[in-house]
Amino acid sequence: MSTSIRHLKIAIVSLYALENNGVRHVASSLREAGFSVKEIYFKDWVNNKFPWPSEQEVQSLIQVLREQEIEIVGFSVRASAFHRMAKYLTERVRYDLNIPILWGGMHPTFMPELAIEIADYIAIGEVDHAVVEFFRRLDENESVLDCPSFWVRQGERIFKNDLAPLVDMDSIPFRDFHTQKDKFHIEGNSITIGDPFINNPEYTLLASRGCPYWTCTFCSNTVTKPLYEGLGKNFRLRSVEHLVQELEYAKKLCNIKVVRFDDEVFPIRKAWIQEFAEKWPKRVGLPFEVLVDPRMVTYESLSLLKKAGLRAICMGIQANDRVNYEHYHRPVSNQKIKECQSIFRQVGIQSNLQIIWDDPFSTEEDKDQLFHLLMELERPFELYLFGLTIYPRTHMARTLLREGKITEADIEGVNTHAFEQFRVDLNYPRPKEDRRWLALIVLLNKSFLSKELIWSLYRSEYFKKNPDPLIALAQGVNLVKMAGVATQMTLRGEMTPLLIKRWVNPRSLVTM
Ligand code: SF4
Repeated sequence: MSTSIRHLKIAIVSLYALENNGVRHVASSLREAGFSVKEIYFKDWVNNKFPWPSEQEVQSLIQVLREQEIEIVGFSVRASAFHRMAKYLTERVRYDLNIPILWGGMHPTFMPELAIEIADYIAIGEVDHAVVEFFRRLDENESVLDCPSFWVRQGERIFKNDLAPLVDMDSIPFRDFHTQKDKFHIEGNSITIGDPFINNPEYTLLASRGCPYWTCTFCSNTVTKPLYEGLGKNFRLRSVEHLVQELEYAKKLCNIKVVRFDDEVFPIRKAWIQEFAEKWPKRVGLPFEVLVDPRMVTYESLSLLKKAGLRAICMGIQANDRVNYEHYHRPVSNQKIKECQSIFRQVGIQSNLQIIWDDPFSTEEDKDQLFHLLMELERPFELYLFGLTIYPRTHMARTLLREGKITEADIEGVNTHAFEQFRVDLNYPRPKEDRRWLALIVLLNKSFLSKELIWSLYRSEYFKKNPDPLIALAQGVNLVKMAGVATQMTLRGEMTPLLIKRWVNPRSLVTM
């Protein structure tokens, strides 16, 4: 803990994410180093809808920055789809306040040349410790031109620096839930002081950073791997003790009903989960959910986690095995997916299975095979359907560009597909064949519909030519399902006005 008093007044702005953990971690690191930091949560996300900020909201942002006498502002630009919005807000803030602007997050990490054209500084990659050094130098009037992990623009010149080494996760301070007066939430006509996420019943955290596989061609994380070659381990785990201590701290301040581990892949390592399974129930005692990769699912490990409080699991199926092997570089067979679902049923945990749709690879035969695979899975299971987002500089983006199958306009950034179609919307314009497949997929996991009925809908020649009634049926059934899920969440005390606002977009219902 630093004892220095810092003078520089810093604000960090989260765009459309109240939970933004990047902002929260950076704010904690800076506060620990003695800085005064304001966290500004500028609007929240809504399912498949990211409305452009109103003039009132922009004015509110400028007002908070002015009243708090902010001297430098950092925008968290977590995806390239936010480029245009971050550029607009940067220009508005600069015009009114004439203060330097820093961008951090995945977008400047993927597209530094584009980001540094607009921001005065950009932070690349993980900067938990590097950001403290950057602001220390500014505070002490030292040069930041050679500050590791940062690029600096001075007039026409751009100073590019190498990345600082990856940090030990146990050395990163916990996110700060006790500071309230330095947090602002701007939404519509209001500016609310205090942490807007503190009463959220779902608490998210990471037990690891990175991925043990790094092969999936669509995955934005793979872009960061080569950046860190020689600078630390590709897959880092927190100690169990460190994350249990975090929960002991957070439980005193937040209204936590369930914990969701947001790791790319939850660290199923034998010694680690044994220690976790021993400490978590005794010292935390909350139900939790994790995301796993099919390649690490075993009965033994999940049984251990179930005893510790594992309630639900998320796992990517993504596509049938041909597309997974040939195009996504995910060596996972259809048989393996069936075995995983069977293990989830034996262990007794809810499984939330993810599918990627709207890809340029799957043929009618692949979609048919995927449908058959899903029909063979033991019910119950939930299905989360996502529209494929082509992230810049991924293997997939480069391959499709080279093959002439897409243009730059199809890549996230220029394209803002993720804003309208992150979770699949049945109303989104698509070929009728795809509309039929999606309707069938939405119907097939509903336990109140018999599999015989689904097979007869699948065989119907009428619906092949006219999928609209099938879509209408799927939407009706989806609404029934949503009502059931909402009731269960209400009974568990997990339904909040914030969640309702996020998920109930009348133009685009979540598919379940
Ligand atoms: S999709 Fe998941 S498993 Fe695949 S590379 Fe990305 S993080 Fe790793």
